[in-house]
Amino acid sequence: MKHIVILGGGFAGINLLNGLKKELGHLIGKEVKITLVDKNSFHFRKVLLFKSVVEDVDLKVPLKRYCTDGMEYIKGEAIACNHSEKEIAIKIENEKIRTIQYDYLVLALGSVIQEIPSTLGGTTLKSVKSALEVREKLLSLIQLAKAEENREVRRELLRIAIVGGGITGIETSSEICVWFKEEVQKAGLNPGEIEVILFDSKEHLLQGVPVKVSERLVYELKKIGIKFVSKTRVKQFENGKLLCTNGTTYTAGECIWTPGVQVNPIIQTFHLPLSNENQILVTDTYCIKGHSHIYAIGDCARIVDKKTNQVDGMTCKEAIPQATRLSEILKNEIYGISNYITHKAYPVKLYCISLGPNNGFVWVQKWGLDFILSGKIGARIRERTWDQASLLV
Ligand SMILES: Cc1cc2nc3c(=O)[nH]c(=O)nc-3n(C[C@H](O)[C@H](O)[C@H](O)COP(=O)(O)OP(=O)(O)OC[C@H]3O[C@@H](n4cnc5c(N)ncnc54)[C@H](O)[C@@H]3O)c2cc1C
Repeated sequence: MKHIVILGGGFAGINLLNGLKKELGHLIGKEVKITLVDKNSFHFRKVLLFKSVVEDVDLKVPLKRYCTDGMEYIKGEAIACNHSEKEIAIKIENEKIRTIQYDYLVLALGSVIQEIPSTLGGTTLKSVKSALEVREKLLSLIQLAKAEENREVRRELLRIAIVGGGITGIETSSEICVWFKEEVQKAGLNPGEIEVILFDSKEHLLQGVPVKVSERLVYELKKIGIKFVSKTRVKQFENGKLLCTNGTTYTAGECIWTPGVQVNPIIQTFHLPLSNENQILVTDTYCIKGHSHIYAIGDCARIVDKKTNQVDGMTCKEAIPQATRLSEILKNEIYGISNYITHKAYPVKLYCISLGPNNGFVWVQKWGLDFILSGKIGARIRERTWDQASLLV
């Protein structure tokens, strides 16, 4: 029996499981054993983390849900990989170490949110716990503003800074802005006194989109009540003052950092070829050079389209088709069919962004044309992409 071990039940890992179910079907449990290993017992829908700032949402999907049809799930943290013996060591409960043998190993260990040192002030949105901390802080600001008679001081208390204009920063500022206005109103204050400012060091939001598309997004944000401050790097938040590297200072009640991700640091201990960003270097069949039975997909892998030299980004949009393709590649391996599947860059340029609970922004570029959908339709498309990514529809 061939044993496929998948490390990581994030977006790449669960979509690979799903692909393997389709590709290998009746062989699973008979000729092929599939084991999913994750340090958590759940798939975490981290793309929706920002929602936890404004409401209690359950972002955990039990991994057992994905491991049907004779697939095995082990809760454990991968800590070492012995390539010559084809085995990995995982730390299971009570600090015990368990060794698992594999015929094919897939690394889908993803990324982690970058840490902003606590000395810089504010709160980094990195977990549900930090999201709740932000909510508490924002609610306490409303109470302070309620007790404040000076209009200018009240406005300063109700000014929220979000630092980092990636998708997370945009979605977080939109969700917060809509919710904060409602909460401020409920407290008997004027929602017109709140201000949400989104800071980014770059000139335009969304990398790789035409300037006019980026400007349209800024316009949509402005309609909600968000001001975008470009080309401004925030260096510290201290005593209600936001200090920027260009010397400007803003006064705000709270600063929320949304700094982006970095490759899971555990990858560096696996003795595999890495890029400068510590992503695993793979071929166009997601196989690691010199290790023909080890594959890597998702955020932890550096994946390049051979024809165009385009490097896949660290997003679900890229991780999911990689997983689907890898399931076909593994099927060919197992059936002994010579492989004809290779990596291809995502065929269209696309961004799908939530701008609060009832508003979205979808941009697609095809045949050199830009298509934009916003408002409720954009929101519905966005919701669908979240559910599809976690295989909930
Ligand atoms: C806050 C946030 C918002 C985002 N928003 C978007 C978005 O809107 N759209 C988009 O396309 N992308 C978004 N991304 C990026 C997207 O989430 C990633 O591209 C995607 O998660 C990559 O999937 P993955 O499976 O490679 O990694 P991950 O989803 O990171 O999964 C890795 C898995 O490995 C497990 N793991 C880690 N270490 C170990 C270990 N040592 N042993 C065992 N298991 C381990 C983890 O528990 C996890 O389940 C966002 C990312 C973040 C952090």
